Amino acid sequence: MTNSNPGSAEVTSGESRPSNFLHDIIAEDLRTKKFGDAIVQTRFPPEPNGYLHIGHAKAIFLDFGLAAEFGGKTNLRFDDTNPQKEETEYVESIQTDVRWLGFDWDRLCYASDYFGQLYEWALQLIKNGKAYVDDLSADEIRKHRGTLTEPGTNSPYRDRTIEENLDLFTRMKTGEFPDGSRVLRAKIDMASPNLNMRDPVMYRILHATHHRTGNEWCIYPMYDFAHGQSDSIERVTHSMCTLEFADHQPLYRWFIEQLGIFPSQQIEFDRLNLTYTMLSKRKLLQLVQENRVNGWDDPRMPTLSGLRRRGFTPEAIRAFCGAIGASRTNGTTDVEMLEHFQRDDLNHRARRAMAVLHPLKLVIDNYPEGPEGQNKDFAEFVEVQNNPEDPSAGTRQVPFSRELYIEHDDFREVPPPKYYRLSPGKEVRLRNAYFVTANSVVKDAQGNVTEVHCTYDPASRGGNSPDGRKVKSTMHWVSAAHAISAEIRLYDKLFSKPDPYDFPEGGDVLDNLNSNSLEILTSAKLEPSLANAKLSDRFQFERVGYFCLDPDSAEGKLVFNRTLALKDSWAKIEKKAGG
Ligand code: ATP
Ligand code: MG
Repeated sequence: MTNSNPGSAEVTSGESRPSNFLHDIIAEDLRTKKFGDAIVQTRFPPEPNGYLHIGHAKAIFLDFGLAAEFGGKTNLRFDDTNPQKEETEYVESIQTDVRWLGFDWDRLCYASDYFGQLYEWALQLIKNGKAYVDDLSADEIRKHRGTLTEPGTNSPYRDRTIEENLDLFTRMKTGEFPDGSRVLRAKIDMASPNLNMRDPVMYRILHATHHRTGNEWCIYPMYDFAHGQSDSIERVTHSMCTLEFADHQPLYRWFIEQLGIFPSQQIEFDRLNLTYTMLSKRKLLQLVQENRVNGWDDPRMPTLSGLRRRGFTPEAIRAFCGAIGASRTNGTTDVEMLEHFQRDDLNHRARRAMAVLHPLKLVIDNYPEGPEGQNKDFAEFVEVQNNPEDPSAGTRQVPFSRELYIEHDDFREVPPPKYYRLSPGKEVRLRNAYFVTANSVVKDAQGNVTEVHCTYDPASRGGNSPDGRKVKSTMHWVSAAHAISAEIRLYDKLFSKPDPYDFPEGGDVLDNLNSNSLEILTSAKLEPSLANAKLSDRFQFERVGYFCLDPDSAEGKLVFNRTLALKDSWAKIEKKAGG
């Protein structure tokens, strides 16, 4: 593992420094006073129709991070123009997750707060001959729209008089017409090479209850008619969004220019794509609804709540976001890079502990049974460092006794070549304790080894033999009489392919779900200090991985999640790339 650089922005795939073009644009705009003396104002504009995911973390990092860098401010704005898919649960989880990531907004805003103003602006455009009510059905509008190679055709309703448009639009608002019967469209250019400029729909009729405005409205603005104007109302200077909105930028500007309002500037950057990861809210919702995962915060989900429950930390996610930077072209980032930043962070902060996931009994035949052989549970205590990376984390006393548990996999009756762990006649080190040599085994009726008997060298206390004898392996252990039991949840990638969208025609992204993404171990044995674990604690179970307590834990029932295994494949990928 390369652990010397926590949160370093130097570790990226191939680049020495993340691209900084957004930073450069803002710096230049301040230099030229593009927005006069206005401070840098940004916003993070989630639609409250799902939980935030790691892709949103990138957007949050840029929106909040860049504004802060220039002494500016950031609003959290809910883009709640679609009453059908939005829920208060999402509004709340989004605020929790933004704060957890370490950011705080200047103002909490809702696009729905601007419904009144947007309506007034729609009337203004109608009065200026720039908008009209269209009676074509959605299907007919689509047909009139043309294609990338053919211009569209004007709607027969395009030349309605201003009076007629005003009358119909007002009546749309008062609820006289059924859903889908009419829309308000901008009057731009049906022959524009940009399809977004071919008289886009501004308002549709929807008799639906909105999470904030209730039944006050039965017409709702489309995203394109709401977003730029919301930015303008909040005097957003730099409105950063992902690249798929680049084609919408001319329309974003058109509305602002026609209305003569504050000229917010849209700037597009690349969406985060991660290998083995799906970041579509619609599809993530499907995973939740079909119980393919255990909720939005299932530790396998790429949501911030899932990553949090898994044991990921905001520090590591921010370090990752800083390292990937932003670019003007879409690409895919190895999920191992995110994991690398998390390991780096945990390596520095995680308390070490010993836990045996697949226990095998190890009996030390020559270990004293206690004073005068009276006490079978006789134990001594060995002193163990809580974190070798951080001496200030102190030490703790771990009980060692005659009967221990070791990992099943750390013993082989017939060792394969190069197997340096315990096998008959072989000597190994029990971490922080003693050297032991295996002598014999006990087997069950099926011939499985159930117990290993060994002898220890009392002179090797602390883990070294005074005669300088070397052993090739150091193993973790827990004292059987003192061990606590816990359920351990091991997570693997949620998708089995690097590109989850790689499926045959007629298939679905969910066909690529990894059916072995969760393994539950119920007989793990842990050192007793873990009984006091708190939800905020982070542990490295020595030789096993990074773990944290799961909120499913209860009195007498501990559940630990594996955040990550120890192996850092990103460091390997990087090493290979670097030659
Ligand atoms: P989806 O398409 O899955 O519904 P979305 O883009 O519609 O996602 P929003 O809630 O509208 O989700 O996103 C809020 C902000 O987060 C937007 O500015 C959007 O561009 C940004 N964002 C969403 N997904 C990503 C991503 N994968 N990488 C970077 N930014 C993202
Ligand atoms: Mg969206």
